[in-house]
Amino acid sequence: MQNKKLYTTRPSMPSYEEYAEQIRRIWDTAWLTNMGEQHNELEKAVAEYLGVEKMSMFVNGHMALEMVLQAFRLEGEVITTPFTFISTTHAIVRNGLTPVFCDIREEDFTIDASKIEELITERTTAIVPVHVYGNVCDIEAIERIADKYGLKVIYDAAHAFGVKYGGKGVGGFGDAAMFSFHATKVFNSIEGGAVVYHDDEVGKTLYNLKNFGIQSEEVIEGVGANAKMNEFQAAMGLCNLRHIDENIAKRRKLSEYYYELLEGCQGIRLQKPQPEVESNYAYMPALFEKSEFGVSRDVVYEQLREADIFARKYFYPLTSEAQCYRGIYDSSNTPVAKKISADVLALPLFADMTKEDIERVCSVIRSAGGLDAK
Ligand SMILES: *Cc1c(COP(=O)(O)O)cnc(C)c1O
Repeated sequence: MQNKKLYTTRPSMPSYEEYAEQIRRIWDTAWLTNMGEQHNELEKAVAEYLGVEKMSMFVNGHMALEMVLQAFRLEGEVITTPFTFISTTHAIVRNGLTPVFCDIREEDFTIDASKIEELITERTTAIVPVHVYGNVCDIEAIERIADKYGLKVIYDAAHAFGVKYGGKGVGGFGDAAMFSFHATKVFNSIEGGAVVYHDDEVGKTLYNLKNFGIQSEEVIEGVGANAKMNEFQAAMGLCNLRHIDENIAKRRKLSEYYYELLEGCQGIRLQKPQPEVESNYAYMPALFEKSEFGVSRDVVYEQLREADIFARKYFYPLTSEAQCYRGIYDSSNTPVAKKISADVLALPLFADMTKEDIERVCSVIRSAGGLDAK
């Protein structure tokens, strides 16, 4: 029997009919991009959903992050995490800034705020923490340090769509936060992204950066590029937003089932729910400790592949170890991140997964570790 191929993520999509209905208006108006009707409607609806006031949408999350870093006119060094998608580090480097890598916490894989201060120099201008897997960073500690040293805080919240901390949308913290609406994220507009900000000057700069600096037909106010979201993306976003709560609820159930099957298994460590946090269940990371589990993460990964289950080594290598950065940064300065990166596997988790799919994943994992024999 041919196995159904299981991937770590599978995009959430509306029905074909729902999307077709949504894009009909685009033919009526022949307005394809440039802050169209659907774009503006989505921007308003997403801001409301995230519980934030000021938000600017972009063609994708990466450009949103690059442009918000640029909007703050940062210079020098930026303290960040190496345990993230490569986009975070690239956005810093492509702005002519120097990333300074801080280690992460064992429990939730976010930047270890107790290690930030020792990395601050005269050249430090900002902190770029990541709410990795949708886990919320130590927001209060980061804010205290930023206030003390006069640093900007720009969150990479690519994974954290809909996550709340203390009842408040996580986008509201820091000087700004970037969300990704990429196909593989909890909420998607095919590709897409947004920046949440508080300062109207930053908002104006963001607009100029994403739209050639064009304020009106005859006024080119700033030097900008093009990173606008088009109407087809926005239409997909509007459809998916209608189903977001239902999708997060499905992810929650599936993720609870994983815990039921894997929690307490010798050598497997799962992340613990964070206090005060309403999660979006974006990812299902599991750590495999070879000395206890019996085999390494890489063996589990291979055995899953043989069973047509394509888990991902998120995040391996560390961004500081990427080929393009090799020899420039030293990952021995971030030993916790290095260890977790070697042990972690993001297991398949997407809204339309079934319980049987999860049983299949867990049974391969159990047999890889010889758990049923133990
Ligand atoms: C997805 C992602 C990005 C980039 O977003 P895109 O929308 O894919 O451009 C940035 N940072 C992190 C942590 C991500 O996972």
